[in-house]
Amino acid sequence: MIYLDNAATTPVYPEAAEAMGRVLREDFFNPSSTYPGGMRAQNLIREARSSVAEALGCAANELYFTSCATEADNWAITSGFKNKHGNIVVSAGEHACVYECAMHLKSAGLDVRFAALDRSGRVDPGDLVRKVDENTCLVSVIHASNETGAINDITSLAAAVKSKSRRALFHSDGVQAFLKTDFDLRSSGVDLYAVSGHKVGAPKGVGALFVSSKVHIAPFIYGGGQESGMRSGTENVAGIVAFGAAVRAYKSRFDPARARALYERLVSGLYEKCGAAVIAGGGHGTYMIAAVTIEGVKAEILQSVCADEGVIIGRGSACASRHSGNRVLEAMGLTKKEVDGAIRISLSPETTEEEIDVATDVISRAAEKVRGRRIG
Ligand code: PLP
Repeated sequence: MIYLDNAATTPVYPEAAEAMGRVLREDFFNPSSTYPGGMRAQNLIREARSSVAEALGCAANELYFTSCATEADNWAITSGFKNKHGNIVVSAGEHACVYECAMHLKSAGLDVRFAALDRSGRVDPGDLVRKVDENTCLVSVIHASNETGAINDITSLAAAVKSKSRRALFHSDGVQAFLKTDFDLRSSGVDLYAVSGHKVGAPKGVGALFVSSKVHIAPFIYGGGQESGMRSGTENVAGIVAFGAAVRAYKSRFDPARARALYERLVSGLYEKCGAAVIAGGGHGTYMIAAVTIEGVKAEILQSVCADEGVIIGRGSACASRHSGNRVLEAMGLTKKEVDGAIRISLSPETTEEEIDVATDVISRAAEKVRGRRIG
């Protein structure tokens, strides 16, 4: 099998699985317990927190572990409104876990504004800033799009937002950018930043929210006071420890120059072999996601033909791909035909040139086959 859907999830790194297994077998203690086993578990969490915080460029006490990035993003978005006053501004390019959370607040009668995307898949900075006023309490812009890989310049967006509303918190969903882009959280002006373990070689079920020490948000879950009282609930020690191990492994394996070369090989191979056109990304995207559209094919059929040949590709975000259409691609102004033929191929540090070459052959043959069937 050639697995090219790493934006949906990644295989668990051996280092992460081993670290996790050790916790499950030997260090299974409750980290709140005050005997040596409990303290060992607490230390393991501390080590993992340091690894993730170091990779993010923040202090360990600014990082709170959660059950997933969806939880971290929900926490950030719902923390925007204090006493239901003011408004929040969210980009139209957000993952469902931000978008649906914002829609929920909107349907409860709160003032939620959406900022338009441009054709490159990034938020339109002019529209974003126009929608911010002195009552804006939170702005959320995804760092790297899970649909296209397009990167928003969140450092300059945060500065522009804060010059219009001094009280606005700036949140970014960093799930697809974390460890894959050159970014310094500390100097970015971003207040809240969410990441997920299972996109970087950790198991599913662990994420984290960075909360800048300069800002104050309310706890998300009340209870026994874990995570410095901000997110109660007995910690997922094995998952957290695996997250730390995965981050260390991913960092040591990821080579940006190699990622770029593979991305270019992939998009030029697909263009030459079947005329696939890049939707967005490239010069302003993470090289770990290639979003292309192939004329005359339906992506879901292409995906299934490729899977039969052992090549696993995605189409849009895994959570959204069971629905028809694609909210983000449509917001970018793609035509229905372009959306129908859109596939997402996402790489990992382990992807090889040979895999790219086989995959582009298989995808092109599959496209020919699907076109021959005259579907759609
Ligand atoms: N945000 C983005 C950009 C994602 O790609 C995903 C996963 O697809 C999530 C959030 C949700 O992450 P999790 O599965 O950890 O809840």
